[in-house]
Amino acid sequence: MNLFKKGRAMYSLFVFLGLAAAVFFASHELLPLVSSANAAESSPKVSPVKARERDFYAPNSENLAPDEMRLIACGTGMPTARPKQAASCWLVELGNGDKFIFDVGTGSAERIAALQIPYNFLDKVFLSHLHTDHFGDLDALFVGGALAGRQKPLRVWGPSGDTPERGTKYAIEHLRKALTWDLDGRQGLTDPRGYHIEANEFDYKGMNQIVYQENGVTIRSFPAIHSLDGPVSFSLEWNGLKFVFGGDTYPNKWYDEYAKDADLAIHECFIAVPDMITKFKFTPQSALAVGTQIHTAPEAFGKVMSRIKPRMAVAYHFFKDFDTTGAINERIRTTYDGPLSLAEDYMVWNITKDDIRVRLAVVDEDVWPPPATEKPQAPDPSIRIPYSDMIAGGRLDVKDVIQPTYDEINKEYGLSEKQE
Ligand SMILES: [Zn+2]
Ligand SMILES: [Zn+2]
Repeated sequence: MNLFKKGRAMYSLFVFLGLAAAVFFASHELLPLVSSANAAESSPKVSPVKARERDFYAPNSENLAPDEMRLIACGTGMPTARPKQAASCWLVELGNGDKFIFDVGTGSAERIAALQIPYNFLDKVFLSHLHTDHFGDLDALFVGGALAGRQKPLRVWGPSGDTPERGTKYAIEHLRKALTWDLDGRQGLTDPRGYHIEANEFDYKGMNQIVYQENGVTIRSFPAIHSLDGPVSFSLEWNGLKFVFGGDTYPNKWYDEYAKDADLAIHECFIAVPDMITKFKFTPQSALAVGTQIHTAPEAFGKVMSRIKPRMAVAYHFFKDFDTTGAINERIRTTYDGPLSLAEDYMVWNITKDDIRVRLAVVDEDVWPPPATEKPQAPDPSIRIPYSDMIAGGRLDVKDVIQPTYDEINKEYGLSEKQE
């Protein structure tokens, strides 16, 4: 009874003190301040007029720090074209201003264009091998890039083959020949300097050999095992950071050795065999052969990454859909539990010694050519190849309706151009 009374007395005292405190804070206008301070602790300040930090990457909107590497996936898919994924293509941008393209697979040229980078900066391409899903858009980057402001030759590095005809030099020379009509028809019309392509072929058997070394950047190659002799993987080292790009391969001991200590390591990871059969319509026999013997199965990808332990492992070369990603992830996770990116087109990695930030880019589909970095060189109209008399004679007379455009442009730019 006494205890009960004592308890009630204490309770009354607390109620009284609480009310007194409320009256005190309210009369001093402290109560609203206290509650807003608590709210500020639980949620960051949000402004109705100031933009918040983005959680995506918008091309041409962020500076690259002097010690930073930025990697953008411009193609993560397969030889089979699809709107959602171009084939293998990776852009590496360095804080020293250098940029390198690793593979330029079918469909990737439009991804590169979406990044709005002046084409003079995109003049170095490294090919892992000569499957079209790894170099099928080289023609688009070569010709389209020149038309959009590349005022220098496109330089290509790639492996030799076991015969000269299976090497990069042969492929580039014959690509150039296949474009004879295209290139001849552009003579004398635009800045001519970009319409040249150089092949730098190196020995596919080279063991961690240096294939490029300039401006503090060292790129090495080592063999891969895929389809025929010839494919390679690359490492790029700069400023204490190491990036490794594996082209197509069965898991191999050279990647295991030379990709060690990578800050970021890309390696192919093929579609899970059951999905190859049901979704890709392979026969079970072909699915097993292609998905596990010509390429790297997800479980094997995981085993490779468990051995080399990169700061970030990147898997690509599969159709990444809502109903395939889970299987790939689960299979990789049976053999690897480290940091992992399941790549898709426009994925972006910002890499420094302290941090690797992974985001997706949001791009503008209506891009136009970025600015040229040098003054355009006027073409020499005298080297234009003329039509035959027969074709030239087929022109309809539309001079009267075109002349106003000549008048307008001549007046605007102080010229005296005449119709042909
Ligand atoms: Zn291949
Ligand atoms: Zn491939």
